[in-house]
Amino acid sequence: MTAIAFIGLGNMGGPMAANLVKAMHAVAAFDLSREALARAREAGCAAASSIVEAVKDADVVMTMLPAGKHVRAAYAGDDGVFAHARKGALLIDSSTIDVETARSCIAEARKRGFDMLDAPVSGGVGGAAAGTLTFMVGGSVEAFDRAKPILQAMGKNIFHAGGPGNGQAAKIANNMLLGITMIGTCEAFNLAERLGLDAQTFFNIASTASGQSWSMTSYCPAPGPVPTAPSNREYKPGFSAAMMLKDMRLAQEAAHAAKAATPLGAQAEALYALMEAAGKDSLDFSGVMKLIRGDL
Ligand code: NAD
Repeated sequence: MTAIAFIGLGNMGGPMAANLVKAMHAVAAFDLSREALARAREAGCAAASSIVEAVKDADVVMTMLPAGKHVRAAYAGDDGVFAHARKGALLIDSSTIDVETARSCIAEARKRGFDMLDAPVSGGVGGAAAGTLTFMVGGSVEAFDRAKPILQAMGKNIFHAGGPGNGQAAKIANNMLLGITMIGTCEAFNLAERLGLDAQTFFNIASTASGQSWSMTSYCPAPGPVPTAPSNREYKPGFSAAMMLKDMRLAQEAAHAAKAATPLGAQAEALYALMEAAGKDSLDFSGVMKLIRGDL
């Protein structure tokens, strides 16, 4: 049993903390939202009244927060983790944030004598609840080895992606590819349908041909061929277009900083931004099909 502080108990953090409790860890939980904290208490966490209280006896501190600015504040603020965690505590941030903030927080942690990892996840709320998340981890091998048994209580695949920030880099590069393949898949289904093929016929052909991708075979944006896909429930998420847009923006930010050419990533970001502008970004990201079809 490890004493774990868990900060950020939202859609993802709540079920992740609950899985740590199921794995017999002692979890001290904190969130600014009272409702989130109450749910964590019901799941067996000890509810803390502040970050300071949550981290004071913890051997491991996990955070699952919305964006880079929240992560920086939670770690580096006067009432934050760096100032109040126990000497030698292992710090793990699983939020999806910009690579730059991840790297600077890990560097600051090291200066303060802590080992810290960036460990963003994929698998969504379903994966968080089922304990089947994929973790993409950046940081030292020693810290990764220490974190692995903890992360295994919440995830199925735990990858070491390399040094600090490499977890975030893997996450946004993967999600940029997902965003692009989804739009390409929408365009192909729309074209095939306009040319007279029904979605199922095109799926039967393309899913066994060279146009095949996860976006098509696991998450088909045209209703019908993949019964579990959000396209069959009016694009109720799943993974919302707003969240995809967040990751696309992070990818573009990182691409500019690294001078990496990502022309399709830029175009994909612009298309998900149109969903936001139309007030439809709470739809699943595969709802970009509606934009392509002209019925958003
Ligand atoms: P969420 O908005 O549901 O939860 C975030 C929680 O953080 C909220 O409960 C909020 O009150 C809390 N919070 C914010 N600032 C805080 C602070 N200073 N101290 C304590 N608590 C604070 O978001 P989510 O869906 O759980 O996502 C969390 C992270 O995981 C994000 O970075 C997101 O991009 C990433 N992510 C989400 C999904 C998904 O499908 N939802 C999938 C993969 C990754």
